[in-house]
Amino acid sequence: MDFIDLKAQQALIRVHIEDNINRVLDHGKYIMGPEVRELEDLLSDFIGVKHCIGVSSGTDALLVAMMALGIGSGDEVITTPFTFIATGEMIVLLGAKPVFVDIDPKTYNIDPGAIEAAITPKTKAIMPVSLYGQCAEFDAINQIANAHGIPVIEDGAQSFGAEYSGRQSCALSAIGCTSFFPSKPLGGYGDSGACFTDDDELAQAIREIRVHGQDRRYHHPRIGLNARMDTMQAAILLAKMQLFPEEVKSRSAIGQRYTEMILTARDQSGLDASALVPPYIEAYNTSVYAQYTVLVENRNKVLESLKQQGIPTAVHYPVPLHKQPVFTDQMPQLPVATQLSERVMSLPMHPYLQAEEQNTIVDVLINAVCSD
Ligand SMILES: *Cc1c(COP(=O)(O)O)cnc(C)c1O
Repeated sequence: MDFIDLKAQQALIRVHIEDNINRVLDHGKYIMGPEVRELEDLLSDFIGVKHCIGVSSGTDALLVAMMALGIGSGDEVITTPFTFIATGEMIVLLGAKPVFVDIDPKTYNIDPGAIEAAITPKTKAIMPVSLYGQCAEFDAINQIANAHGIPVIEDGAQSFGAEYSGRQSCALSAIGCTSFFPSKPLGGYGDSGACFTDDDELAQAIREIRVHGQDRRYHHPRIGLNARMDTMQAAILLAKMQLFPEEVKSRSAIGQRYTEMILTARDQSGLDASALVPPYIEAYNTSVYAQYTVLVENRNKVLESLKQQGIPTAVHYPVPLHKQPVFTDQMPQLPVATQLSERVMSLPMHPYLQAEEQNTIVDVLINAVCSD
């Protein structure tokens, strides 16, 4: 069993992927070829925003978005500590300071109630992460941000395809950023990512920053970098987009099936509700379950049991960013993130996961939790 099976999807569209790759080999425009713009147009329609700008990775999408907003030395960006390193890392790379605030104990996304108190005159952005595939609380976050005139950047690296009150992830704030790393909900066969915005000026800035701050050939009004998306990745993603809308539905259904199975099995085994907690998805949200992540009490033992039964698992994330050595200059007390980081574990999850496989996984999981 694979933690994420990328082969089942490939088997369905292999010919289409090969056709698209061959087209790139034929025209030879490996950098900023026509497929990049074609993908940008397709994705901006899909997300329902005016501009999509393809970039070299999800990490670079965050970097370029913050550069477009002029974030730099001495600035502060409010974000969540319960995320992948890139979120906090890019803030520091620009000379700014990540201000970590605690997370909601149900959704594990940034707690909007903790944001206001963290705002200072230096705050230049709020950067929520839509963790595990469920959007953060954007209405509440945007309300606070608007009251203070601060832009919001969504780190939607795990939530591409998810809906928040009927709107798409990456269309919920000034700039939405995502990643097309192979294991993300929409994944290529290499690194790439994208920024989304409705703002013409921000879109222009992002496009310029993506190519060395250039507005026309060899003319550079600003500092940028090489953050271009490869034509080859765009070609592969164009093929994958044929399946993606169906995969979004499958992901959501498979996640819900996991939750039903876990709740039924938990009740039947007489376990306490706190012994095994499935993900909580708000009624107005759909999750794409980039990770299907549960809470257990004795994680190391449970992980070991699953490993022995041939079921791959992962921990997202064992150390919250405010506890990472690289950020130790500011060590706020963030009890929710700290406690959750000791209890979370992710189960195999992908759009082609079969009900029988899920049954096996849940059986083994329940036994492991019971014998703990
Ligand atoms: C994967 C991920 C990123 C980074 O994306 P890359 O394409 O790997 O650079 C950033 N933030 C979060 C929350 C992620 O999960």
